[in-house]
Amino acid sequence: MLVLRAHHLLCIQGYEGNGYSSEFTKNMDRVVTTLSDNTYVKIVMTVDDICEKCPHKLENDTCKSQEKVFEFDLKILNELKLIVNRTYLYKDILNSIRENLSYEKFQKICGSCQWFRYGYCKNGIFKSF
Ligand code: SF4
Repeated sequence: MLVLRAHHLLCIQGYEGNGYSSEFTKNMDRVVTTLSDNTYVKIVMTVDDICEKCPHKLENDTCKSQEKVFEFDLKILNELKLIVNRTYLYKDILNSIRENLSYEKFQKICGSCQWFRYGYCKNGIFKSF
Protein backbone atom coordinates (compact mmCIF):
# COMPACT_ATOMS: atom_id res chain seq x y z
CA MET A 1 0.00 0.00 0.00
CA LEU A 2 1.12 3.54 -0.71
CA VAL A 3 0.20 6.66 1.22
CA LEU A 4 -0.29 9.69 -1.01
CA ARG A 5 -1.47 13.19 -0.33
CA ALA A 6 -4.35 14.22 -2.55
CA HIS A 7 -2.57 16.61 -4.91
CA HIS A 8 0.18 14.07 -5.57
CA LEU A 9 -2.44 11.93 -7.31
CA LEU A 10 -2.17 14.46 -10.14
CA CYS A 11 1.60 15.11 -9.87
CA ILE A 12 2.41 11.45 -10.46
CA GLN A 13 0.42 11.39 -13.72
CA GLY A 14 2.92 13.68 -15.41
CA TYR A 15 6.10 12.65 -13.64
CA GLU A 16 9.01 12.54 -16.08
CA GLY A 17 11.93 12.12 -13.70
CA ASN A 18 12.23 15.72 -12.55
CA GLY A 19 12.12 16.80 -8.91
CA TYR A 20 13.68 18.68 -6.03
CA SER A 21 16.80 16.54 -5.54
CA SER A 22 18.29 13.23 -6.67
CA GLU A 23 17.08 11.56 -3.48
CA PHE A 24 13.63 12.93 -4.16
CA THR A 25 13.50 11.64 -7.75
CA LYS A 26 14.88 8.24 -6.72
CA ASN A 27 12.05 7.89 -4.25
CA MET A 28 9.51 9.27 -6.69
CA ASP A 29 10.69 6.69 -9.27
CA ARG A 30 10.02 3.99 -6.69
CA VAL A 31 6.53 5.30 -5.95
CA VAL A 32 5.57 5.64 -9.61
CA THR A 33 6.87 2.19 -10.57
CA THR A 34 5.12 0.61 -7.57
CA LEU A 35 1.74 1.83 -8.74
CA SER A 36 -0.43 -0.50 -10.77
CA ASP A 37 -4.20 -0.81 -11.16
CA ASN A 38 -4.56 -2.96 -8.06
CA THR A 39 -2.26 -1.06 -5.73
CA TYR A 40 -4.01 0.20 -2.61
CA VAL A 41 -3.53 3.90 -2.00
CA LYS A 42 -4.43 5.65 1.23
CA ILE A 43 -5.20 9.30 0.57
CA VAL A 44 -4.01 11.85 3.10
CA MET A 45 -3.60 15.59 3.52
CA THR A 46 -0.32 15.31 5.39
CA VAL A 47 3.21 14.36 4.39
CA ASP A 48 3.23 11.12 2.42
CA ASP A 49 5.49 8.56 0.74
CA ILE A 50 6.62 11.20 -1.78
CA CYS A 51 7.28 13.93 0.81
CA GLU A 52 9.40 11.43 2.72
CA LYS A 53 12.54 12.27 0.70
CA CYS A 54 11.70 15.85 -0.17
CA PRO A 55 14.07 18.64 0.90
CA HIS A 56 11.00 20.79 1.64
CA LYS A 57 9.71 18.44 4.31
CA LEU A 58 10.19 20.01 7.73
CA GLU A 59 11.24 18.25 10.92
CA ASN A 60 7.76 18.56 12.37
CA ASP A 61 6.42 16.52 9.45
CA THR A 62 4.87 19.39 7.56
CA CYS A 63 5.75 20.93 4.21
CA LYS A 64 7.63 24.21 3.82
CA SER A 65 4.69 25.33 1.64
CA GLN A 66 2.10 23.84 3.95
CA GLU A 67 -0.72 26.30 3.31
CA LYS A 68 -0.37 26.09 -0.44
CA VAL A 69 -0.19 22.30 -0.67
CA PHE A 70 -3.02 21.90 1.82
CA GLU A 71 -5.20 24.00 -0.43
CA PHE A 72 -4.22 21.90 -3.48
CA ASP A 73 -5.07 18.75 -1.52
CA LEU A 74 -8.45 20.07 -0.44
CA LYS A 75 -9.50 21.21 -3.91
CA ILE A 76 -8.42 17.98 -5.55
CA LEU A 77 -10.23 15.85 -2.98
CA ASN A 78 -13.39 17.82 -3.69
CA GLU A 79 -13.07 17.60 -7.46
CA LEU A 80 -12.27 13.90 -7.49
CA LYS A 81 -14.95 13.14 -4.89
CA LEU A 82 -12.48 11.21 -2.76
CA ILE A 83 -12.43 11.01 1.03
CA VAL A 84 -9.38 11.77 3.10
CA ASN A 85 -7.82 8.88 5.08
CA ARG A 86 -9.71 6.36 3.01
CA THR A 87 -7.94 3.67 0.98
CA TYR A 88 -8.74 3.14 -2.70
CA LEU A 89 -7.55 0.91 -5.50
CA TYR A 90 -5.38 2.96 -7.82
CA LYS A 91 -7.56 2.08 -10.81
CA ASP A 92 -10.55 3.66 -9.06
CA ILE A 93 -8.54 6.82 -8.47
CA LEU A 94 -7.62 6.92 -12.18
CA ASN A 95 -11.28 6.51 -13.08
CA SER A 96 -12.19 9.32 -10.76
CA ILE A 97 -9.63 11.60 -12.44
CA ARG A 98 -11.03 10.75 -15.88
CA GLU A 99 -14.62 11.21 -14.80
CA ASN A 100 -14.30 14.36 -12.73
CA LEU A 101 -11.40 16.46 -13.96
CA SER A 102 -11.53 18.80 -16.93
CA TYR A 103 -8.60 20.86 -18.17
CA GLU A 104 -10.33 24.01 -16.92
CA LYS A 105 -10.70 22.60 -13.40
CA PHE A 106 -7.10 21.38 -13.44
CA GLN A 107 -5.86 24.80 -14.52
CA LYS A 108 -7.86 26.49 -11.78
CA ILE A 109 -6.56 24.18 -9.07
CA CYS A 110 -2.92 23.75 -10.13
CA GLY A 111 -2.23 26.96 -12.07
CA SER A 112 -0.21 28.50 -9.24
CA CYS A 113 2.07 25.47 -8.84
CA GLN A 114 5.68 25.99 -9.89
CA TRP A 115 5.54 22.85 -12.08
CA PHE A 116 2.41 23.87 -13.97
CA ARG A 117 4.17 25.90 -16.68
CA TYR A 118 6.27 22.93 -17.80
CA GLY A 119 3.16 21.08 -18.95
CA TYR A 120 4.28 17.66 -17.65
CA CYS A 121 1.17 17.24 -15.51
CA LYS A 122 -1.21 18.41 -18.20
CA ASN A 123 0.32 15.98 -20.72
CA GLY A 124 0.22 13.09 -18.28
CA ILE A 125 -3.27 13.69 -16.97
CA PHE A 126 -5.02 14.35 -20.26
CA LYS A 127 -3.14 12.01 -22.59
CA SER A 128 -5.75 9.31 -22.22
CA PHE A 129 -8.83 11.55 -22.30
S1 SF4 B 1 7.01 20.19 -1.64
FE1 SF4 B 1 5.86 19.66 0.22
S2 SF4 B 1 4.08 18.51 -0.52
FE2 SF4 B 1 5.56 18.54 -2.20
S3 SF4 B 1 6.74 16.65 -1.94
FE3 SF4 B 1 7.84 18.28 -0.84
S4 SF4 B 1 7.14 18.14 1.28
FE4 SF4 B 1 5.66 17.02 -0.01
